[in-house]
Amino acid sequence: MSKVIALANQKGGVGKTTTAVNLGIGLAARGERVLLVDADAQGNLTDSLGFNEPDNLPVSLATILSKVMLEEPYKPNEGLLHHVEGIDLMPGNIELSAIEVSLVNTMSRETILRRYINTVKNAYDYVLIDCMPSLGMMTINALAAADSVIVPVQAHYLPAKGMTQLLQTTARVRRQINPKLTIDGVLLTMVDTRTNFAKDISFILRRDYGDKLCVFNTEIPLSIRAAETSAKGKSIYLHDPNGLAAKAYEAFTKEVQDIGEKRRTKQHKADFSR
Ligand code: ATP
Ligand code: MG
Repeated sequence: MSKVIALANQKGGVGKTTTAVNLGIGLAARGERVLLVDADAQGNLTDSLGFNEPDNLPVSLATILSKVMLEEPYKPNEGLLHHVEGIDLMPGNIELSAIEVSLVNTMSRETILRRYINTVKNAYDYVLIDCMPSLGMMTINALAAADSVIVPVQAHYLPAKGMTQLLQTTARVRRQINPKLTIDGVLLTMVDTRTNFAKDISFILRRDYGDKLCVFNTEIPLSIRAAETSAKGKSIYLHDPNGLAAKAYEAFTKEVQDIGEKRRTKQHKADFSR
């Protein structure tokens, strides 16, 4: 049974893409079959995995989504790229901005991405969707397609207002489109251990949203090495295997996998008792 996770936060530069890369490759290293989906017109995920000119790719997520909208056929592996560290990627690029505009006039516009993911997800244990920094139509599509959401939050920025909006949007998607949607938790990123910001933010999140949100135990440290990986086309595990950021992403991956395992066990029991 596959699990679809959206990495979402409408605030830019909080570590969504870096987390998609290192969680995806971390899960693959632990034996899971992983598909990463670049649902951001900036194409940063595609670029960070070494496909450096996302806008020149012949087939990308935009191509496939427009086929879904037009009800045109596509091959199951159409447009998928393979990364040497053991994951598949559905690349994204600037063409997604045009798709986002045309979604507005499309029937079932919130579930176009879900329809695509439903046709490929059985080949994977995890599908991770890297969202763009907005709560627009592509992000709604990602939330509609997902089983759960992970919210990366930059530790030295008070997320209060943005967090409320994100929770409201998630709740609305759950009520209207995707009743099974859950929030796995908030991941604190770019934590500067020389300051107390992360502790403060973590305290505020637990105080204000503790009934709705978990905060992952693992915190990702601020790391120049982590920042460098996007230009290298590889994960932190290859770039700086013994560094603190690699250790943190490994521990975070384990937390995500544990949540996934619990869900699988629950599902098996439910299937068995039917
Ligand atoms: P956007 O909203 O634009 O899609 P994002 O939320 O996907 O951004 P990233 O692109 O992952 O965020 O990260 C923003 C910047 O911070 C990038 O330059 C990245 O290399 C850097 N960065 C990510 N994680 C860390 C870290 N742990 N320590 C230092 N720099 C980091
Ligand atoms: Mg990004």
